[in-house]
Amino acid sequence: LLKMVSGPAISDGLRGQLKHDEPMSRHTAWGIGGLAKAFYAPADLDDLVVFIRSQAPAAAFFWLGLGSNILVRDGGLNCTVIHTAATTDDIERNGDVVRVGAGVACPKVARYCARQGLIGLEFFAGIPGTVGGALAMNAGAFGGETWALVKRVSCVDGTGQVRTRDRDEFDAGYRTLRQPAEEWFVEAEFQLKRGSSDEGSAKVKGLLARRASTQPTGQRSCGSVFRNPPGDFAARLIESSGLKGVRIGGAEVSTKHANFIVNTGGATATDVEILIEEIQAKVLALTGVKLMREVVIVGEVAKEVG
Ligand SMILES: Cc1cc2nc3c(=O)[nH]c(=O)nc-3n(C[C@H](O)[C@H](O)[C@H](O)COP(=O)(O)OP(=O)(O)OC[C@H]3O[C@@H](n4cnc5c(N)ncnc54)[C@H](O)[C@@H]3O)c2cc1C
Repeated sequence: LLKMVSGPAISDGLRGQLKHDEPMSRHTAWGIGGLAKAFYAPADLDDLVVFIRSQAPAAAFFWLGLGSNILVRDGGLNCTVIHTAATTDDIERNGDVVRVGAGVACPKVARYCARQGLIGLEFFAGIPGTVGGALAMNAGAFGGETWALVKRVSCVDGTGQVRTRDRDEFDAGYRTLRQPAEEWFVEAEFQLKRGSSDEGSAKVKGLLARRASTQPTGQRSCGSVFRNPPGDFAARLIESSGLKGVRIGGAEVSTKHANFIVNTGGATATDVEILIEEIQAKVLALTGVKLMREVVIVGEVAKEVG
């Protein structure tokens, strides 16, 4: 029997891959998440634009990088997911500027820059997401921050219109970004400093070693769940509230780094979400600090079956 498909249909001329009812658990770092109603992996930027135009104006999109900062609820995503990591692997150098497609993985950019002797983006080596995700989150580590190095970006809107925007059109804060319009990133240019390849590689190596010694790198997580409150650390507050190792179902507050929640196997999005709420409630009750989430929660709550 052929399954009836209720989502968007593929139009002529598209070269990417459209899937229906795609498990988001395959596309998130936690390995958790219900089905995406539709899921499009564009062949390249031109193909992405053609796809958006074929779906406009009614379509709702969710822009997915490598799913390293999202919790997709168990009821899935009732919209079309754009799988940007499939779009491009372009990186290009022009003087001290590196131009890179939004779907490229951050560690790949860090390695490229180190080889080229361009300094600034070493911290990307430990961020297991895409450049687009790093722009959207203003990802950062060890003093470095994505938007501190952005020169220009290219964005696409819901009608498929692509435009270039300067950095000063955006308002980037700690793990937040205010954009001038509802658009998504397709490309970025980073302004870097000239150094040596040895210097870049040594910095990358040092940063990765620091990470491995303090974070549960071998387990499924989304990195830091909460933002650090001003002048303090979320991990310190969680640990001092006695929450290290606390579990809900398969979700556990990491015993190595208290601001990480790990999927010890079989965790549902509901397990993680309840654990997040319990951490917030206990830390607030014991320390008076309201922890703000860094992880983005999307999707529908699963309907009860039976
Ligand atoms: C082990 C581990 C360590 C981590 N360490 C750090 C760290 O040190 N510092 C840090 O900042 N983060 C860290 N993170 C979190 C995460 O890697 C970053 O937030 C990363 O930038 C997310 O990128 P992504 O491509 O996975 O985005 P996703 O998780 O796929 O998406 C995150 C958000 O970005 C949006 N988005 C994705 N692509 C685009 C696009 N092209 N245009 C517009 N919006 C887009 C999504 O819609 C979503 O809202 C860590 C995560 C893990 C698992």
